[in-house]
Amino acid sequence: MRAHDWSASPLGLPATWHGHIEDTASTGTLTALAVARNELPGRRVVVCSEHAHSSVEKACRILELELRRTPVDAAFRIRPDLLELEGACAVVATVGTTSTTSIDPVAEIAARKGDVWLHVDAAYAGSAWVCPELRFSAAGVEQADSLVVNPHKWLLVPMDCSALWTARPDAFRDAFSLVPEYLRSADDAVSLSELAIP
Ligand SMILES: *Cc1c(COP(=O)(O)O)cnc(C)c1O
Repeated sequence: MRAHDWSASPLGLPATWHGHIEDTASTGTLTALAVARNELPGRRVVVCSEHAHSSVEKACRILELELRRTPVDAAFRIRPDLLELEGACAVVATVGTTSTTSIDPVAEIAARKGDVWLHVDAAYAGSAWVCPELRFSAAGVEQADSLVVNPHKWLLVPMDCSALWTARPDAFRDAFSLVPEYLRSADDAVSLSELAIP
């Protein structure tokens, strides 16, 4: 966790966020969407772009959520004016789509989303934020509820090292905390089992 906290700084992420390692961005997105579903029970829709990664659809399949894809502009970015958020528990913005590295306008999505959970999938391009000249693509990301970046892509770390950050660790705890007797400890150590699936 200490090393993970350090890695927020070269990426320009808020130092106050909670972060931990997931095996893949697919698992990180599944985890975040499970939290969103838990936060907004009764809303069963996830909104993303036509170009979102297949892991978003897979997470919806597993969580029995409905996926609603939003059309894109000529540069393959989601069109915020066409966002249909009725019944949505989460909206997924992609920073660096896998096919074309298109960058969804995260700040505009954040401005329109209301109380819908904002998950940013920067699995691919998030690593580029270590370069100040490429930081522009992080605009608005500080408004995300959760974020995934894959060090096991451009940060040259072997599989399985995907970084999950959240501004709302308490929501993760609400979704995942179960503390049976054999996991209790006397100290106040952070137990990552309370914030994730494993
Ligand atoms: C690679 C990629 C993923 C999936 O990453 P895994 O760690 O293999 O699950 C998700 N989103 C985007 C945009 C990607 O490029």
